[in-house]
Amino acid sequence: MDWAGDQLRQIEATRRQRLDESAPKMDDSKASTLLENFHPDFKGLERLVQVGPQAGKLKCLSEIAELLEADSPLPAVFEPSPTLETDVLVVGGGGAGLAAALTLQNSGLQVTVATKLRIGDANTLMAEGGIQAAVGSNDSPRRHYADTVVGGHGKNVPELVRLLVEEARPAIDWLTQLGVHFGRTEKGYELKPGGGTSTPRVLSCQDVTGLEIMRVLRDAVFHGPAQLLEGHSAVELCDDGEGRVTGAVLWNSEAKELVTVSARAVLLATGGSGQLRLQGFATSNHLGATGDGLVLAWRQGCSLVHLDSFQYHPTGSVFPEAIAGQLVTESARSMGAQLLNAEGKRFIDELSYRDRVAAAIIREVSEGRGVTTPAGRQGVWLDTPLIDKRQGEGTLARQFPGMIHRFKKYGIDPSTQPLLVYPTLHYQNGGVAIDQEARTEREGLWAAGEVTGGLHGTNRLMGNSLLDIIVFGRRAGESIISNIKDRGPVTLSALSRFRKERETVSGLSQQKAPQLYPTVSGMKFELKQAPLEKPGDDSFSQQGSAGGSSFEPPDPFSAR
Ligand SMILES: Cc1cc2nc3c(=O)[nH]c(=O)nc-3n(C[C@H](O)[C@H](O)[C@H](O)COP(=O)(O)OP(=O)(O)OC[C@H]3O[C@@H](n4cnc5c(N)ncnc54)[C@H](O)[C@@H]3O)c2cc1C
Repeated sequence: MDWAGDQLRQIEATRRQRLDESAPKMDDSKASTLLENFHPDFKGLERLVQVGPQAGKLKCLSEIAELLEADSPLPAVFEPSPTLETDVLVVGGGGAGLAAALTLQNSGLQVTVATKLRIGDANTLMAEGGIQAAVGSNDSPRRHYADTVVGGHGKNVPELVRLLVEEARPAIDWLTQLGVHFGRTEKGYELKPGGGTSTPRVLSCQDVTGLEIMRVLRDAVFHGPAQLLEGHSAVELCDDGEGRVTGAVLWNSEAKELVTVSARAVLLATGGSGQLRLQGFATSNHLGATGDGLVLAWRQGCSLVHLDSFQYHPTGSVFPEAIAGQLVTESARSMGAQLLNAEGKRFIDELSYRDRVAAAIIREVSEGRGVTTPAGRQGVWLDTPLIDKRQGEGTLARQFPGMIHRFKKYGIDPSTQPLLVYPTLHYQNGGVAIDQEARTEREGLWAAGEVTGGLHGTNRLMGNSLLDIIVFGRRAGESIISNIKDRGPVTLSALSRFRKERETVSGLSQQKAPQLYPTVSGMKFELKQAPLEKPGDDSFSQQGSAGGSSFEPPDPFSAR
C-alpha cells in the first residue's frame, strides 16, 4: 500500500497513544440523527409493492419491489407433474436447512434437501466472528434478550427472541456434540464481546466459525439418510389449490431440466439477498444469495416483515479491489482494532451497533474525511495491528487465520498494516413472517434462517444469526414432525392467481424472479428443452435459447 505511505506512518506514530484512549461516545439522539442522515435504510428510496399479498402496504427498496412484482420464469402453460415424491422438501443447503434435515433424520420421514449450488455453498460457511449464547457466569438469557431487542430498535418479535435466547445453550450443546470445536480457555468457552453485547457472549472457532459449523453439519447430513439434490434451485412452490403448499418446481442446472417434487411439507431455508447488491453496495454474501425465498413465499401469499431494513456491515474490504466487499469480521473491533479517518482520528465507538458504525463510516467518507484508493474507491482505516498491542503478540495470527490468509495473498499483513474498509451489504434483516414453530402463514410451508424476518428487528447483533439458524432450523424440523399432513395435489394455482393479479397492474418490469444468480456472475436459468408452451409464448426466450449452453458456472469457492 505504498500509495498510502504518509497516512500509514501517521497511524503507526499515534498507535501507542491511542491504545489507552476511550472510544468516542454518542448519545441516542445524536445516533438517531446519524442514522437518518447517513444510513442507507434512510435514503427514502423505498416504494410500495403493487402486486401480491401486501400490495399497497409493503414498502421496500424498488430493487426488491421489482423482484416481488416480477413474473415467474415458468412458461404460461406448464403443468406440474411430479417426478419425485418425498415427505419433507428442504429448500436450501446452508445451516438452517441442514439443522432441520438433521432434526428430521430419525423421524421416519423421507427428507430431500434441494440446494442451488453444492451443499454448504452458503452464507453459513462464510460466517467468521461467532455465535452468541448466554453461557458466561455473569450472563443470562434475559440479558441476551435485552441486548437483542435494544439492538433491533425494539422492532423484534418478542416471542421469537425469547426462544432464541432460551434455546441458545441447547443449540451450543447440540453443535458441540456433533463435533464443533468452539474456542476454550481453562475456565470454559472463550467468550468475546460483540457490537451491542453488554457482556462478552460470542463463542467462536477462530475467525472461521461458519466453516467449522458447516463442516460438521455437512458431514452429519452426508452420513445420514437424507436425499441430497445439489444444483437444484427452486423456481416456484406448488400448492393444492386451497392454500396449502405441496411441493416445488426445481431447476436442475446440470441437466438444464425442470423437476417437480411432491412433498407433504416444504421448508424454505434459502438464506439472504446480498447478491442483489442493493443501492450499488458491494456484498459479503455467497453467490447464491439472491433473495429467492422472498419471491417464492410472496407468490404463495406469505407476509414479509421489515423488508425496508438491511444490514450494511461496517467493515467490508475496500483494498485490494479483488476482494472488495468481503468481510473483515466484527471480532477485529471487539479485540481492539480502531476505526480511523483520513486525518488519523477516531470517530465512533467501534463496538456500537452495526447500523451506527456503518452510518458513521459513510458520514466520514461523504464529508471528505475518507481515504481514496488509486482506483477511486473510498473507505476508512481499521487499525488491526492494535489487536496484538492490546491482546499480546501473536493474537492476530492465532485468532484470525482467515483474515491473515486473505490479505497476505495481496501482500498486506494485518498484524503490521491497517486495512481499508467501508460498509458492505451483509444481511437481510427482514423476511418471511414465521411463528414460534417456524411456520409461515401458508399451511405446509415452514421457513427458517436468514430468509425469515421479525427475530432481529431492524438491526441484527453479531452472532445472533448463527444462533437463529440452529434454533429455528431445529424448531422447524420438530414442528414438521408434529404437524405434517398427507400428500396433496400438486398445482400452480397460487402462481396463476398472482399472474392474473399482475395483468391488472400496468407498467410492471419485464424481469423474471427468482433471479437465482447475481447479474454480475453471467450465470442464468435456461432449459435444454422448453416444456409445452402456448403458441406465441416467449417466456423462455428471455431466459436463453433452448438447446443448452456452453457456459460453465464459476467455482463459488475460488474467490475465497
Ligand atoms: C461473510 C459473512 C460472515 C458472517 N459472519 C457471521 C457471524 O460471525 N455470526 C453470525 O451469527 N452470522 C454471521 N453471518 C450471517 C450468517 O452466516 C447467515 O445469516 C446465516 O448463516 C444464514 O444461514 P441460512 O441457512 O439461513 O442461509 P445460507 O447459509 O446462506 O444457506 C442458504 C442456502 O440456500 C440456497 N438457495 C438459495 N436460493 C435457493 C433456491 N432458489 N433453491 C435452492 N436453494 C437455494 C443457497 O445456495 C444456500 O446454500 C455472516 C454472513 C456472511 C456472509
